[in-house]
Amino acid sequence: MALKHEVQELRQAADLLVAPLYSLEAERIPRHTLVENEMPPDVAYQIVHDELMLDGNARLNVATFVSTWMEPQAERLMAECLDKNMIDKDEYPQTAALETRCVNILADLWHAPRQEEATGCSTTGSSEAAMLAGLALKRRWRNQRLADGMPADRPNIVMGANVQVCWEKFANYWDVEMRLVPMEGETYHLTPDRAVGQCDENTIAVVAVLGSTFDGSYEPVADICAALDAFEQDSGIDVPVHVDGASGGMVAPFIDPDLVWDFRLPRVASINTSGHKYGLVYPGVGWIVWRDVDALPDELIFRVNYLGDTMPTFALNFSRPGAQVVAQYYNFLRLGFEGYRRVQQYARDVATGLAARLDELGPFDLLTRGDELPVFAFALKPEVDNYSVFDLSLALRERGWQVPAYTFPENRTDLAALRVVVRRGFTHDMADLLVADVKRQLSRLEKQPEPTHDASSATAFAH
Ligand SMILES: *Cc1c(COP(=O)(O)O)cnc(C)c1O
Repeated sequence: MALKHEVQELRQAADLLVAPLYSLEAERIPRHTLVENEMPPDVAYQIVHDELMLDGNARLNVATFVSTWMEPQAERLMAECLDKNMIDKDEYPQTAALETRCVNILADLWHAPRQEEATGCSTTGSSEAAMLAGLALKRRWRNQRLADGMPADRPNIVMGANVQVCWEKFANYWDVEMRLVPMEGETYHLTPDRAVGQCDENTIAVVAVLGSTFDGSYEPVADICAALDAFEQDSGIDVPVHVDGASGGMVAPFIDPDLVWDFRLPRVASINTSGHKYGLVYPGVGWIVWRDVDALPDELIFRVNYLGDTMPTFALNFSRPGAQVVAQYYNFLRLGFEGYRRVQQYARDVATGLAARLDELGPFDLLTRGDELPVFAFALKPEVDNYSVFDLSLALRERGWQVPAYTFPENRTDLAALRVVVRRGFTHDMADLLVADVKRQLSRLEKQPEPTHDASSATAFAH
């Protein structure tokens, strides 16, 4: 989306004077209106390619959770499927079949009660998955309220202030009151008692996040469910739980097999994950799985033609790419359980190792240590007052590293931290290079008299 303010900034730039390329004369082309005539493909390619050199190097970006490396064979498959439209189930029945297999694989991995076919689908990411999950919860709540002869006009949803922005979007777009539980002290995510404290007969669900984006910590899903069990006994109000496993849904099953967070808990109604995060696929795929058919009201499902038969769909988009779904299936097939376990364990080893080494440097307070999601956040010790986390973040940019600095949400907006996300493709070797660069920059920052940047002057960072 071209936001107003950005567009104005860009518009000030004049036409682009293209250098002589491929034996063409230098030529002026407009940047913001359609060029009048065709140009040779090589020239167009070179212009766009050159401009994109200014985009960051994705492999040096420890801000994003989204995959930045896939095997060449996966890339080849994706290239072969670039033209496939996921919605054309009649035209691409095999792509549709691979989607169904992926849903079944995830339902099994997350211990959904066994059924012939799992209830779920692919999406463009966890955000779309969150919308679908939220809509199903809202509709279920409404149906029950109406069946009980009660008003159904004031739904609310309960979650920690650390939720990813997609849940705020859900509440805003679908007119559901958002009950955000603020952070408190050194608890940076939702706790059972504080979640239950916000629940009433209008609560469509509690959202528990498996892997907070702020610090990589797991929310205590089982304890939240237990607290809601007790709440139901006292009040008769049955509040379902949705687990936002955008990252953790693809981490915990492999390297925390004893952690009970999924459909083993009867209160968990649905789970989403981002195929393009620890599912190890390039951007453009998410997944949502419901416990069973009862958790997804049938009236939300549309039926499309599929080889003369009908195929149920539940989605916000119509057309969308099939390549990412194919790549997800490739990863499942190629890595299997053991492959995923090794990839995620390696990421955790790199994260915990890197966190420990940064801890040893002296000026940092670690908020988390990378032992849940392979993600950790760290702040500066209170006595460091001559440079800020924003200064360090910008200093690391000099070598191309993108290490985001940000302030925490409500009640802890005083806390400014840096965060590192370790993904597939980020190696022990790269961690060594990052530590060396942090040391180099610290020796300079330690000599400066006072902080240069704060949250308002540093690059904005959105989770
Ligand atoms: C990334 C993330 C999302 C949004 O996921 P997309 O796949 O980027 O749409 C939602 N929730 C959590 C916890 C996340 O980490």
